[in-house]
Amino acid sequence: MGLRQSDGPAQASVVVVNTCSVTAQADRTARAFLRRVQRENPSARIVVTGCYAQRAPAEIAALPGVHAVVGNSHKALVPRLAAEAAAGAAFVPLESLIGAPAAVSSGQAPVWLGQAPVWIDDAFAHSWLSRAEPAAAFGGGMETSGPTRPTLKVQDGCGNRCSFCVIPTTRGPSRSLPFDQCLRSAADFAAAGGTELVLSGINLGRWGRDLAPQRSLEELTAALLKEVSRLRLSSIEPMDWTPELLSLFQREPSLRGLARHAHLPLQSGSDAILRAMHRRYRPWHYAEKLRAIRLHMPEAAIGADVMVGFPGETDALFEESYAFIQAQPLTYLHLFPFSARPGTAGWEMAKGHPVSPHDIGLRMARLRVLIAGKNLAFRKSLVGRKLPAITLRTPEAERRQGFTRALTDNFVQVRLEGNLPANQSLWTSITSVRNDALDGVIAA
Ligand code: SF4
Repeated sequence: MGLRQSDGPAQASVVVVNTCSVTAQADRTARAFLRRVQRENPSARIVVTGCYAQRAPAEIAALPGVHAVVGNSHKALVPRLAAEAAAGAAFVPLESLIGAPAAVSSGQAPVWLGQAPVWIDDAFAHSWLSRAEPAAAFGGGMETSGPTRPTLKVQDGCGNRCSFCVIPTTRGPSRSLPFDQCLRSAADFAAAGGTELVLSGINLGRWGRDLAPQRSLEELTAALLKEVSRLRLSSIEPMDWTPELLSLFQREPSLRGLARHAHLPLQSGSDAILRAMHRRYRPWHYAEKLRAIRLHMPEAAIGADVMVGFPGETDALFEESYAFIQAQPLTYLHLFPFSARPGTAGWEMAKGHPVSPHDIGLRMARLRVLIAGKNLAFRKSLVGRKLPAITLRTPEAERRQGFTRALTDNFVQVRLEGNLPANQSLWTSITSVRNDALDGVIAA
């Protein structure tokens, strides 16, 4: 569109902010960021998109300096609107829509909410998939700011209705990027010099179910492994870890192709809480999947999302969840406090059975200690092992001391001796455990 990347928001003439709204904290972070951009760069034209824009456009439009609000439903318009904003174009409100009670814009015409035009529609009315090409995002070496390990987003939206989750209403139904486009994106990334691609989606395990003919994530994973030198699967719901998917890890003899890394959202280890969350598995299902993953990949990183303080999580139910997590071969956790999201069933439940912030804090602290111990034991078990890794962009202070950061295929950071550029695929011999990482040397 003729736009150039600026050094940062303070120098930009247009700032596009892609917001998250998964928790109340995500909303606060977005609002604080928008206020800061406006304060530091009052002449910037700020275009806001993403899930917060989709969920609460009027809230965003009311913030000072916001030039346009674009829901996920209209995200495809962002490049055009950013280019128009950069050219100094003023968005003209349509007279007939001023003050319209429902914030629904038809086609490409905005409605006007307060100071800003808003492009938004029901997320379920749209089935296109917004994404960035990994080859374009790829940072590669030291000279650019893009990610060394970009994501290839192949799926968006979700057909589940977990009672705490706002995502289905902000992102709409589950849909998949067609098989050929997935392969083309991966091939372009490899041709641009990329090494590791992270396969992602909102509900990645559902990839292909909506395509005609129907396809499977296993099929896609096997095909992508022929295009890129390393592929990492991001979060996959427990029930989508099929024997076919697991067998892909076993068929890869060099272990370099498919990173030994499994992330399965758990949310709670309590049966009663999982039911209240409307999750589709029970603790014993989850434990079975982890057992199978450990059997197939003895050295894999295994991670989980855990939500603390869901309405009705009594001390006894938390203890049940804690004991379950303690018994699992997990190597890391993403811990979140429950956050009531407007429009979800959890919002209502929180009115009747809230858990106090004090209790949530104590429970999260206990889980942090628990997982720190498990993670340390996992890293200790890797000392003396030879692991495939990719070099990352290393902070300047570490580079000056003669070290390079790398990430092993089983998701542990290693501090390597020597200075290497990012994006190098290599083998490392692990020599010792260091703080929250490992020390290693390049292996022959
Ligand atoms: S599976 Fe549940 S938590 Fe995940 S996006 Fe869908 S509704 Fe939300």
